[in-house]
Amino acid sequence: MTKTCTHCGEVKEVGEFHEDGVRVGWVRGTCKVCVKAYHLKYYAENKEKVAERKRKYYAKNKEKVAERHRKYYAENKGKEAERNRKYRTENKEKEAERNRKYRTENKEKVAERNRKYRTENKEKVKEQIRKWHAENKEKVAERNRKYRTENKEKVDGRIRKYRAENKEKVAEGKRKYYAENKEKAAEYHRKNIKNLSNSYVSSLLRMPAADAPPELIELKREQVKMYRLIKEAKNGIA
Ligand SMILES: [Zn+2]
Repeated sequence: MTKTCTHCGEVKEVGEFHEDGVRVGWVRGTCKVCVKAYHLKYYAENKEKVAERKRKYYAKNKEKVAERHRKYYAENKGKEAERNRKYRTENKEKEAERNRKYRTENKEKVAERNRKYRTENKEKVKEQIRKWHAENKEKVAERNRKYRTENKEKVDGRIRKYRAENKEKVAEGKRKYYAENKEKAAEYHRKNIKNLSNSYVSSLLRMPAADAPPELIELKREQVKMYRLIKEAKNGIA
């Protein structure tokens, strides 16, 4: 079934017309496209008037409007969240790039915000870090290894300082560890002796590994190697 629009004069399917002329006032017999165009034009030409009417309506119907909003959000909560999730998944790269750009352009702001967040959420941050470390053990170990190699001086100094300031604690920790890990400790010790590790060679020098100069360790290591060779040779003869 078709109908002719009283405004544009086009012949259209009845679905292209509003069923209820009352709802749109004077536009009975006008097609949906024309009604929409009329409304848009009206809004554009009467912005102030429309805004004022809205303000008045809102002032008079605060409760009603709030209730409508509440209802809308409650009914569309899942939909909204789903839409956000979908957008983020489909635009991951774009999002990451935008975030990167923002961080580069707002370094100071970001740093300040992070500082503030960490101060206000100390416990939470600590827990997050702990969790991340537990889930990324390999990565953490690799990072630590790299850091120690690249900052040997600094790390050794820090260890020395800590040991000097916490002698009792360190000794107690050692005692406890050996008591609880006798087999492992013995194995570790055997390995250190066999490989002439820094800590073993330093112990022969009666010096903590962090204090012994590398050249001295190297000399002592060569000396021990030589003793071992002599001993082997003697055993061969005997
Ligand atoms: Zn029309």
